[in-house]
Amino acid sequence: MPAVPAWVDLRLDGNQGRAPSASFFDALLRDPELLRCYPRDDRLERSLAAHHGLPVDRFFVGAGADDVLDRLCRACLEPGREAILPVPTFEMLERYVALSGARARTVPWLEGAWPAQQVMELGSADTALVAIVSPNNPTGLVATADDVRAVCAAFPQSLVLVDAAYAEFGGEDLTRAALGFDNAVVVRTFSKAFGLAGLRVGYAIATPRVVGWLRVVGSPFTCGTWSRAAAVHRLATGRDEMQAYVHAVEAERTELIGALRAFGLEALPSAGNFVFVRGGDPTWLRDALAGVGIAVRAFPAGVRITLPADCAAFARLRAALAAAVQPKALLLDLDGVLADIEGRRALASVADLQALATLLPIGVVTNCPRRLAESVLARHGFTAHVAALVAAEDGPGKPDPAPVRLLLQRLGHTAAWMLGDNASDFEAARAAGVVPLAVAGSGTEAERREQLCRQGAVRIVDGLAGLRQLLAPRP
Ligand code: PMP
Repeated sequence: MPAVPAWVDLRLDGNQGRAPSASFFDALLRDPELLRCYPRDDRLERSLAAHHGLPVDRFFVGAGADDVLDRLCRACLEPGREAILPVPTFEMLERYVALSGARARTVPWLEGAWPAQQVMELGSADTALVAIVSPNNPTGLVATADDVRAVCAAFPQSLVLVDAAYAEFGGEDLTRAALGFDNAVVVRTFSKAFGLAGLRVGYAIATPRVVGWLRVVGSPFTCGTWSRAAAVHRLATGRDEMQAYVHAVEAERTELIGALRAFGLEALPSAGNFVFVRGGDPTWLRDALAGVGIAVRAFPAGVRITLPADCAAFARLRAALAAAVQPKALLLDLDGVLADIEGRRALASVADLQALATLLPIGVVTNCPRRLAESVLARHGFTAHVAALVAAEDGPGKPDPAPVRLLLQRLGHTAAWMLGDNASDFEAARAAGVVPLAVAGSGTEAERREQLCRQGAVRIVDGLAGLRQLLAPRP
């Protein structure tokens, strides 16, 4: 399955903030000068200076915090130099360090406090950059103002990067703590709390000397004139909206962490607009959610889920998580899964069906007429293990999700997996929020397997025994 399949319609994989409301655009769009002119004025820097209560010469605006981080790495790193990074962290940071030719010295940080001790121990004459990303992406963990002060004092010859891209969502105010030190550079962005990721506006707060370096290590025009004007406008008019969004994130964050923990998953405490699920089976969680149209981001150490800050999307996310990690029912297609109706032969054994039925209630959803479906189930001895049946007479057939929903209703559950053998099964399951799985024997060619995945199957299992195996060690 591609990382973000075409049917995904809820993207919770990019930590993007909530877009400004419609009125935001009225004032901006009409000024052609914003399109005609190079971005030469310093209105945005002046707005930021007023916003933070600092002199204007302490600001550098780039094309997103990405651009600022890239410039920072190019300004202070080169082959022979080292950057110390607690990991996992924002992956582009590691990339920019590598591109500069410097060496990244990493320290694991997957729980608790910022690993100050280990960072200090790695320091050497070659250390040119120490990164404090807080709240950290992807974990949501935070450093403290004391950490910032201690690192700035311990590495007077190095730049201390305080990446505060998610500062508005929680944690201590590290910007203030960092500003007392000439070797600190704070990086912030309009992409997250202010919801302008598409416009690419980020900035650094540093000494005028470092601001000068950031200017000269890249091209003269960074983010565009329209983007700059939009950021000024957002700062002037969007703070209440931003606060409301942050509050929505905080409420969802608490709720999601509680829900994940209730599922037996390890959710890290988070100060960002996302939650990190540590351990478990990250690719399963990513794929199962993608199977029902929700994109999240998988890392080797876990899965990061952006909080949607929207009631309907959040309810959908919760239901999808329940379906992925705690299914309460199994839905099976009939023809091609339990039996080959035309060939009048069973495709599954009664023993395997019975074994599955002891784990979870089983429903069958088929586009065949009821009498035919019932006689097929009876002929192969399956009837006793099937708790509910939805057939052609019950309404529209798959790929409409209605029969899947009806079956869930008859079984009295919403969190479920469905085993099918074609695109219409997967589509119906997906639209009903049921995790779509495909059945295919071990001898099935690679091409057919790829087709099933392209059509929306999250996993391909070798019959009912394969389904039981997939169910066993969850999460
Ligand atoms: N820093 C961190 C920690 C981030 O997570 C991100 C974006 N994912 C950035 C910087 C870059 O943000 P921007 O969109 O401003 O380039």
